[in-house]
Amino acid sequence: MSAAFNGAKYCWMDGGVVETERALVSAMEPIYLGIFEGIKAYTQGNIGGKGRLSVFSWDQHMDRLWRSAAIDGLKMPYRRDELLEGLKAVVKANDYNSNIYIQPRIWPKAGDLDEVHVVIPVWRFNTILPSSNSEFSKERRFMVSSWRRISSDALPPQAKSWANYANSNLAVREAKRCGYDSALFLDNRGFVSEGTGACVMSVRDGKLITPPVTASILESVTRNLFLEFVPIDLRIPTEARDLTRAELYASDEAFLCGTGGEVTPITSIDDIKVGRDYPGPITKRIADYYSQILAGNVDKYSRRLTSI
Ligand code: PMP
Repeated sequence: MSAAFNGAKYCWMDGGVVETERALVSAMEPIYLGIFEGIKAYTQGNIGGKGRLSVFSWDQHMDRLWRSAAIDGLKMPYRRDELLEGLKAVVKANDYNSNIYIQPRIWPKAGDLDEVHVVIPVWRFNTILPSSNSEFSKERRFMVSSWRRISSDALPPQAKSWANYANSNLAVREAKRCGYDSALFLDNRGFVSEGTGACVMSVRDGKLITPPVTASILESVTRNLFLEFVPIDLRIPTEARDLTRAELYASDEAFLCGTGGEVTPITSIDDIKVGRDYPGPITKRIADYYSQILAGNVDKYSRRLTSI
């Protein structure tokens, strides 16, 4: 038990810091009705090393957490600033001073669906950024899943609900069984949707293209940020539009983006090699600029960083 959450000794639960191995609930709790967030805090100035931590895009993640709660009918019992104080207390208790992943989890209590538990576990992670890291350029072979992405008229992908990840799990397991690293989803109309835990980006003729929010995707904090800085700061034209499977196969470059995977280059899809160079030059430029933003080195995005 003590090795839970990659060694994080403490988490925050229902209003206070507790030892992770004592953060226990009844087996009868409807955890499957819960929602969560995936957030990261990076060491400033030196994102692979040790130093002062700042959480990235806290407000955007809190906006989405509250939207997920509204969609799934959960009542949040704490304010955002209370959750931020809780996070700070957990980081202090664990004595963390290098990159951490933060996963607030909210689920209704057994017997009273109007009351919820709120837990904030944290754990360390190794960033794959910048693009000069060998981990970044690792080969990653994807397949288009035979499972379709859940759609808004059945289980809305716009809420970050645990239940949605049963769909992702089917696709990942199928991909591994078939000898691939992971999977990409099509939506119920047959257009490209997203990855199992990240958004898809395609580079074609110098332009960045990503599926629209109506293609059964999670409204990704990272994708929104890329749509903001890529056209303006990097001067790469950017389009959010429906993308066909064939267009994705015939991309010059393709990658996934998200808080967890950061920028994950795609080597091949259904054994069709993507583009000529791997990772592609535009993928690398975006990844390197993103890592500068995360490290607090881009002034105009410093407001996205909250010191913890
Ligand atoms: N889609 C899915 C299904 C995800 O789980 C994630 C990760 N949260 C994303 C997209 C990317 O979202 P974000 O950039 O907010 O991490």
